[in-house]
Order: sequence, then structure tokens, then C-alpha cells
Amino acid sequence: MSFDAIPKDLRGLRACLVCSLVKSFDQFETDGCENCEEFMRMKGNKDNVYDHTSNNFDGLIALTTPTDSWVAKWQRLARFTRGIYAISVSGTLPQSTLRDMKNRGIVYKSRDRSQR
Ligand SMILES: [Zn+2]
Repeated sequence: MSFDAIPKDLRGLRACLVCSLVKSFDQFETDGCENCEEFMRMKGNKDNVYDHTSNNFDGLIALTTPTDSWVAKWQRLARFTRGIYAISVSGTLPQSTLRDMKNRGIVYKSRDRSQR
């Protein structure tokens, strides 16, 4: 079992705007997002980490077995890697990333639940 996707430090945590995975800034910069790296390209790129993650998030869920968790289904996380996820993430993705996701056939749904 790999714990690479678990936050190593409680300070400086950020949540991915697309999948809501929570890790430290450094982890996003070192490993990228386990779920979204193919279109976010955050590895070694601080600007992309700032653009695609947010420090404004609420609630944490620990997912150990995403495929058979009802919480994971509820949060639309079932196909993601195990890790710590936020319940709500505020922030906006860059237009270029939205276009890139669309081109890959990925439907983007905001993780922001604070307005509802
Ligand atoms: Zn992600």
C-alpha cells in the first residue's frame, strides 16, 4: 500500500480543483496530482500548482478503498487514487486547462459547494 498521496505536512495544504485531492504544495510540485497530472502538468511547475490547486477548501475525507466506498460515489471520487480529499474546493481553473480537459473528453464539474 502506497501512502504517497497522503499529506506529509498539515501546513500549506492545497486541494486539486478538479478531483479535490489534498496534499501539500511541495507534494503537488514534486509528484503532481495522482488523478489529473496528464492535463495539469504540475510536476516541477510552481505556476501550474498555483493555477490548479486552492488553499480555500472545506472538509476532509480519507479514502482508502475508493472503488467500494459509498462516500466516494457520493463525492464522485470512486475512480480516483486513495488519499485525502476535500468535500468542497473554491477556485477557478484556467481557460486553457478547461479547453484541454474538454479536448480529452473529461467533463469538469466544480468542486465548490460553498455557494449552495
Ligand atoms: Zn486532481
